[in-house]
Amino acid sequence: MPPLTVDPADFDAFRDDLRDMPEQDCSNDIECAVRTILESIGEDVTRPGLRRTPERIARMYQELTAGYHVEPAKLINDAIFEVPYDEMVIVRDIDYYSLCEHHMLPFMGRAHVGYIPDGRVIGLSKIPRIVEMFARRLQIQEQMTQQIARFIQEALHPQGVGVVVEGLHLCAAMRGVKKNNARMVTSAMLGSFKRNQSTRSEFLENIGRSHLDW
Ligand SMILES: [Zn+2]
Repeated sequence: MPPLTVDPADFDAFRDDLRDMPEQDCSNDIECAVRTILESIGEDVTRPGLRRTPERIARMYQELTAGYHVEPAKLINDAIFEVPYDEMVIVRDIDYYSLCEHHMLPFMGRAHVGYIPDGRVIGLSKIPRIVEMFARRLQIQEQMTQQIARFIQEALHPQGVGVVVEGLHLCAAMRGVKKNNARMVTSAMLGSFKRNQSTRSEFLENIGRSHLDW
């Protein structure tokens, strides 16, 4: 077999940067998109600090949006118990991290969840997991609050559910108005938490939010 010989005039055929196709150092959609963003803001995507950034961000978004792929039935699987308990159950100060769907910037804070069982309770560790399932998506805080409340309502059919979420939004803190410490508070009250003022007050007092306006 004769050795492979390349005419110097044809060297250019082997040069990536002269192909019609843009150079693809990215191996999936997110990586390629991040690369495009970096180039668009005038960055040099080949400099050492940025070389692996598209890849890192692609992995990061998989993690931060993992809530889309959680199967709710599996999440609460084996964790619902028949118990004749009908006093308020509260899990407070659940830390969460989410991404606002308008800017894809983080918002974070604490969620407080309460419910009054009607014969069925859910394992305590599941409530933070439920919050996380809805937080790890592109969200708006109001919607996330409602989704958590409705999910518990559907799963347990309790007498009532209350959810209060506090959030610090980086899109508000970093941009424009720069209200650095302004927290947004949202709530969703279902069943007896909605109908019954004293139930609601008991919940709000327990989560240290007795001054929440209604
Ligand atoms: Zn935002």
